[in-house]
Amino acid sequence: MNSFSVSRRRFLHSMALLSGSMFLDGCLRRIPTGLLSPPDPMSHLTVDVHCHFFNGTDLQLERFLQSTQNASHPAAAKAAPLAQYFNWKLAPSGKSEMRKLRSEHMRVKDVQNNWKKAHSEPYSKFRHEVLKHRPATAPIAGTTTTQGSVPWNAPEWQSKRWPKKYEDAEPHLVGGSLTAFEEYFQYRYVALADYLDLYNKGASRSIDLAITHLVDYDWPLNDGKPARTQLHDQVKLMERISVLSQGRVHTFAPFDPFREIAYRAGIRNAKWSALDALKQWVTRFGCIGVKIYPTMGFAPYGNSEIALESWSGVSWKWLDDLKSIPDGKGGHATIGERLDDVLGEMYNWCLSIDLPVMAHTDLSNGLNETFDQFPAAKYWGALRECFTGLRVNFGHLGGFEKTSEKDWNMPSAAWPSGVNARDLVALMSENPSAPGGRFFADSAYTENVLSDTDRATLLDVYQAALSWMAPGQPRPVLQNRLMYGSDWSLVMLENDMEKYFADFVSMFKQLDAQAGESTENLSNKFFGANAVDYLGLQDGGTRKRLTDFYSDNKIAFGPQGQPAWMSKIQS
Ligand SMILES: [Zn+2]
Repeated sequence: MNSFSVSRRRFLHSMALLSGSMFLDGCLRRIPTGLLSPPDPMSHLTVDVHCHFFNGTDLQLERFLQSTQNASHPAAAKAAPLAQYFNWKLAPSGKSEMRKLRSEHMRVKDVQNNWKKAHSEPYSKFRHEVLKHRPATAPIAGTTTTQGSVPWNAPEWQSKRWPKKYEDAEPHLVGGSLTAFEEYFQYRYVALADYLDLYNKGASRSIDLAITHLVDYDWPLNDGKPARTQLHDQVKLMERISVLSQGRVHTFAPFDPFREIAYRAGIRNAKWSALDALKQWVTRFGCIGVKIYPTMGFAPYGNSEIALESWSGVSWKWLDDLKSIPDGKGGHATIGERLDDVLGEMYNWCLSIDLPVMAHTDLSNGLNETFDQFPAAKYWGALRECFTGLRVNFGHLGGFEKTSEKDWNMPSAAWPSGVNARDLVALMSENPSAPGGRFFADSAYTENVLSDTDRATLLDVYQAALSWMAPGQPRPVLQNRLMYGSDWSLVMLENDMEKYFADFVSMFKQLDAQAGESTENLSNKFFGANAVDYLGLQDGGTRKRLTDFYSDNKIAFGPQGQPAWMSKIQS
């Protein structure tokens, strides 16, 4: 999810308020087609390594809003139950979407019209419900929406029918919290269609492959109680979407070490093992990686070195004794030791089958300020030595977009320096078999790219960072490790977010020009080649898994006989 706590808080704030009836003021947008916008076969390989195509029923909305909004927006926190109520009642669950995707409709020629219908259904339910509740819910004082207030008194709003002008609305997918909020009521498949429609135009590249990530917050946020669409169903649905999209999108499964710890400790509610589930999702349901979210309360490794008090700030009912947690085999250990145990097992399994790991590494969006520090470079240092060879993506590169050009002109040893992005780059090694040799990073949710002035500054930061060397690094390493990421659908929060991809493309053209590259060398690495290395798309485990996945599911590709991303990788 996004890297900017400010943006995210704004989003969550709006989300809660909108559910309190401030919603719907001409924000209806176009109905996407059922046919996904195809990739351009001629443009260079382009991968978005960081997206999310979930809806609100996949998330712990209420707890999420409450835990992040309480201090800054108490009104929003109060509206949290309503946000979840609306969303879980109205947005399509994983099971209902699966039924739609399995229906005849997906095979007949008229797929486009059927998807129009599918798309408008959740909205009409939503509208109906909002209209029904409207008289009972008063707007919360002192709040405005980004696009003006709702004209409740206008005759068109009094009618039971949705105003005609919105039914016929022209394509209208613009950024802002309303749009982002709407997407959480939508089918995931439609979210993918929205995304591809938007980013397949206006740039000299098109998206060949999008990597989507699921999250598991059930234990950190809700004592193990599941979201409305349970994870097993989310995974199966995403598998189906990978098939239907013909390999245009593939999914990283989530791993929450607390779920595993609770399961082994025999906690009531802990009905299944996170590690067993992960293994199943990867080997049987098409997942191609694992996503971890350290700011929910764990360091990537080295937790046993962390003071126990760090975990005493959260009152998890199931975890009352931090010093002595049963491991299920007769032993007991501290929370830090248990975390390292289960994380270590997971990393070893990833290594054994060459499975990449993606982690949120911005120091933000945690349950508290202590947890916010858990993705810091020093903990990755601990992992690097113990699990050499592990493919890792530092999502948001430790807050890269907040660094300055000056940060990248420092010649001194990077770690521990307090510039997390730079410290993470210092952990990368040029040699793939050395510790840190397969550490990568992504540019997800860099909203500064959207403004002309900020982009000029960002360009300088990128230029400095791409040529920066930590002591001991013989050459700059980041240009072979940094990858394009959008953080869709979170990035929909930003006005002008429809330019996000095109703005990155043009910024990298400038970087190529400044480096005297006539062959778009930096661009091709950033948008494609580095993702191939990270994911193992050419000769790694992922390539093999996906080749098997396509043949097991009998996917009929066009004349190329393979998805665009595969035909664009030079063998
Ligand atoms: Zn994300």
